[in-house]
Amino acid sequence: MNSEHLSKRLACVASFVPKGSVLADIGSDHAYLPCFLVKAGMIQAAIAGEVAKGPYTSAYNEVRRLQLEKHISVRMGDGLAVLEKDEGVSCITIAGMGGALITSILEKGEQKLANVTRLVLQPNVGAQHVRKWLIDHDWLIIGEAILEEDNCIYEIIGAEKDGKSEAELNEAELLMGPFLLKDKHPVFINKWTEECRHWQQILARLQEAKATPEIEMKKQTLLKKIQLVEEALL
Ligand code: SAM
Repeated sequence: MNSEHLSKRLACVASFVPKGSVLADIGSDHAYLPCFLVKAGMIQAAIAGEVAKGPYTSAYNEVRRLQLEKHISVRMGDGLAVLEKDEGVSCITIAGMGGALITSILEKGEQKLANVTRLVLQPNVGAQHVRKWLIDHDWLIIGEAILEEDNCIYEIIGAEKDGKSEAELNEAELLMGPFLLKDKHPVFINKWTEECRHWQQILARLQEAKATPEIEMKKQTLLKKIQLVEEALL
């Protein structure tokens, strides 16, 4: 993968970025995503944010290699702290991290989201945390995608500021995604069939363990999730 040829996963993230955006790609690593979008003429400008020195240097070098310094500002810092007020950022991408980390980045930097109209989030795990945060903070999920690459399954969530979101998600939609649940793409079916099988195995082990209130609670949680997924896969 490089800035000319994105991975299938990053290409899907890119497809959710509105044309003409001013983008902030947080946790940009090599800055492949903003470089690709600028080179393709899809976005006006971008900020590539990185918290770690190595990935920051990779991003900086990639932007220099492609002579995109006028269009992409590479910054080192934690989450949305790299953004200044009134920079006109309209879209933020956060990809390739766990859902809990994505959620904490959004939570810590919430005041930087005031003029952002689109979020594109790709949690590697824990997508339900991301959906819950979006709904709780009046962001409306406007689209989702699921894909498989190199034996990993990825979910991408696009959201727009809703002002006064009354969109509620039920438990199944939070867990599996409102759009993905409707589409039932073969990758979605594979993902949740496998998850369910895994949960059944854990449940079987818990059935054999000494019953304690903690074990009982774990069993109930697993049973609930298994039921939600089985209903979805019917
Ligand atoms: N976004 C790229 C992608 O999807 O291919 C890179 C994903 S890489 C697995 C995650 C990157 O996020 C790492 O380079 C890491 O240093 C960075 N990161 C983790 N926490 C961060 C934070 N709080 N703020 C900015 N970057 C962060």
